[in-house]
Amino acid sequence: MKKIILFLVDSMMPDVVHACIAQKKAPALEFFQQHGEIIPDCVTVYPTMTASVDCSLLTGVYPDEHKVPGLVWFDPQTKCIINYVNGAMPIYKIGLGKCANNVLYDLNERHLSKYVKTIHEELEEQGYISGSINVIAHRGHKQHKMSLPLVLDAIMGFQPAKVSGPTFLSLGTLVQPNLFRPLNWNWSHGPMSSYGINDAFAIDVLLEVIRSGKQPDFTLVYLPDNDHKVHRDPSAAVDHLAEVDKQLVRFLDSFDSWEQAMERNTILLISDHGQTSIGTDKDLNIPLDDLLASFSLYKLGTDFDVENEVVVCNNERMGYIYPLSNELHDKVIAAVSNESRLDIIAWKEDEWAVAQKGGTDEMVRFRKGGRYKDAYGAEWTIEGNAQVLDLQITGNLVAYDSFPDGMARLYGALFSQSAPVIVVNAAPGYELLSEYSPTHLGGGSHGSLHKQDSTIPLIVAGASHPFPRPARLIDVKAFIAQEIKALQAVR
Ligand SMILES: [Zn+2]
Repeated sequence: MKKIILFLVDSMMPDVVHACIAQKKAPALEFFQQHGEIIPDCVTVYPTMTASVDCSLLTGVYPDEHKVPGLVWFDPQTKCIINYVNGAMPIYKIGLGKCANNVLYDLNERHLSKYVKTIHEELEEQGYISGSINVIAHRGHKQHKMSLPLVLDAIMGFQPAKVSGPTFLSLGTLVQPNLFRPLNWNWSHGPMSSYGINDAFAIDVLLEVIRSGKQPDFTLVYLPDNDHKVHRDPSAAVDHLAEVDKQLVRFLDSFDSWEQAMERNTILLISDHGQTSIGTDKDLNIPLDDLLASFSLYKLGTDFDVENEVVVCNNERMGYIYPLSNELHDKVIAAVSNESRLDIIAWKEDEWAVAQKGGTDEMVRFRKGGRYKDAYGAEWTIEGNAQVLDLQITGNLVAYDSFPDGMARLYGALFSQSAPVIVVNAAPGYELLSEYSPTHLGGGSHGSLHKQDSTIPLIVAGASHPFPRPARLIDVKAFIAQEIKALQAVR
């Protein structure tokens, strides 16, 4: 039976794909385009950060249902900041051991809701074989032994002996499947891409599983390198993507011909989010800690204290602010609402989501159900100034512009946790500054609800049916489930 492979390319952007193909720097992407289509305006998940996006790709729902709020968030019950490894300083402060546990174990086994099914769980329940290469979210019905390098083993405190995943699970050098040939790990890949979480190693594993004759019916392959490079130098994004294309060429070249690759596989490529260029001016960093200086802020790396009033979790261009008692909620909103560099400040009021434009009194509130219908078929009740979310209302129809699928996505972030939380969103060109958080002056950043961070390309090649429009990342799961059934029918 023909197989399905989905490549998840971190920070791949639609205009960069277009330019890369036009400049003849992406022969593989161009080949996939010739065998299918490039959808340039697919919408991803909010916050536009890898962890929340990966979980949505796997489960087909936004964070209000899968319950992984972002890359960095706070759990009020355990009084812990969860960080799936973003930035060297916060990791140092929280402790690499804790972060490693968060990303390698807790994300899949504790945080990701048991009330939703991953694509791997669903496909394998239907008798298909599923595979995951280097994706941090990988929950499935099989248990896999994790072997940690000695250094990580020593600092993690406890070693989760096993992690769950689909039948074929590969996580760098940490979880290694039995392959036809053991892969030699090349340490020249450098410390941050160490443990094999990099493009070249992911493709090595993919080629080896194909060669072994045990290619899963569906394989999800994560290619992270582009993200790091675009963060450092967004102006060279085309050349960074050209490097990814070279890895895709390695995949195509492993067949007798590129045509043979298409006869044997349906290929999808998707991104997790875009990036926004941040200039060099210090003013482009919005100092959250200063805005909240009148509160006792929890300091990373210290013990939790009864005096602590507010916790800040920085997701680059988006932030979760947690007031630790009810009477602080409105005071926190008041403290940030004069900041015009925040284009959205949002919070929950019962089942309502409320959004205010920073530096103004303009507000809109919305809840699920009601007479307004958006392009995705969702129904809403909307009150107040629809301009805050740039909603274009014609009769009962709502269209989005600056904030694609803005209501469902903002709702998804706000209701990802039951705890009171205030969401702050940086306007285009800005990012959030808070203690120890990584910033990117002169580079690229993401996390926001804005279309710059939220519009991603989706490439579908060799599929039996067209992808539904308007396209969203959360619709990929159902598309694959449908495609795999269609492929079985023609077998
Ligand atoms: Zn990134």
